[in-house]
Amino acid sequence: MHPFSYVRERSVDDAMRAHAGDPAAAYLAGGTELINWLKEGIALPSRLVDINRLPLAQIEVTPSGLRIGALARMSDVAAHPAVRAGYPALAEALERSASPQLRNMASMGGNLLQRTRCPYFRAESELPCNKRRPGSGCAARYGLNRSHAIFGWSEACVATHPSDAAVALCALEAQVRIAGRGGERAIPIGDFYRLPGDTPQRETVLEHGELIVAIDLPATARARRSWYHKVRERASYEFALVSAAVALELADARIQEARIALGGVAAVPWRLTAAERAIAGAPLERGPLMAVLATAFAEARPLAHNAFKIELAKRTLVQALEIAGAMR
Ligand SMILES: Cc1cc2nc3c(=O)[nH]c(=O)nc-3n(C[C@H](O)[C@H](O)[C@H](O)COP(=O)(O)OP(=O)(O)OC[C@H]3O[C@@H](n4cnc5c(N)ncnc54)[C@H](O)[C@@H]3O)c2cc1C
Ligand code: SF4
Repeated sequence: MHPFSYVRERSVDDAMRAHAGDPAAAYLAGGTELINWLKEGIALPSRLVDINRLPLAQIEVTPSGLRIGALARMSDVAAHPAVRAGYPALAEALERSASPQLRNMASMGGNLLQRTRCPYFRAESELPCNKRRPGSGCAARYGLNRSHAIFGWSEACVATHPSDAAVALCALEAQVRIAGRGGERAIPIGDFYRLPGDTPQRETVLEHGELIVAIDLPATARARRSWYHKVRERASYEFALVSAAVALELADARIQEARIALGGVAAVPWRLTAAERAIAGAPLERGPLMAVLATAFAEARPLAHNAFKIELAKRTLVQALEIAGAMR
């Protein structure tokens, strides 16, 4: 295994200093991704900065909504009464993620920063992968790309982002709070991730040394009527083939306002803003919803093996809308 040093810090400032002082440092939270990367050679940090003693594990109701500390564990967030009542899409997304043991270890900050499950990226042998070895090519572009993107991909990379929670957070209009040298800033989660373009190795707007400290969720009527629907190859312990998160306001059994994000279809949680506008006023019935949503997928660009994702995503989305619509 690659050799590295280890420090455990107790304050945000100390952790950022320890990280910023070493260009090859990495923060260690639950370690459920990072330790795998070390074993697989995906990450080669010279220093691990353990952040588990930082005071960032709280889940707090605030005047404007909810603040989830970056070190809150996925299982604690999923079980929290304020999350279950006010943001059911997030509770559902978390409960459909990984396994109970992983959810007990894994933090929310680490969840947002997990990396693609593209098999070429994770392969033990050295295959062309611009994300892992910039400039080496993309084995998935003309290889096996059944699980890959249909939106927003580039010739350099066609991978999807694997986090379930990030998709729910996108429909819930969450903000990611980031601590850096200049203090704290808050970024809408839709602006936190980057499309691959020519630099697929850069996946978020985080700069070296910056630390996610919290996720803020606004309290809205939509958030209370929200849902996450995940479709995968097997019933549990599997990443999404396609998923949909929705948050709805209804009036007289019609959709008044909606927020929609898809997972498993792009390198970022894919917000369908045109569809949000198109379904305003639509009745909560499968036929009319399918018809309205037909044009929302016009910009999809399937690869050789994943055209099925267009229809699957549409149906997954309609199912999520129906479930959210039927909530009390
Ligand atoms: C077998 C398996 C199945 C899985 N299935 C799913 C699934 O179905 N759905 C799903 O969504 N996820 C799934 N996951 C991913 C899992 O959710 C992540 O591994 C986990 O959330 C990562 O959190 P962590 O705290 O362990 O992060 P770590 O491994 O500690 O860190 C991951 C990355 O985030 C960085 N980091 C961590 N915290 C911060 C912070 N606060 N600020 C800045 N950088 C930070 C680390 O430096 C590292 O780069 C699965 C994982 C495994 C191993
Ligand atoms: S899709 Fe992206 S992650 Fe997968 S092989 Fe291509 S460059 Fe690598």
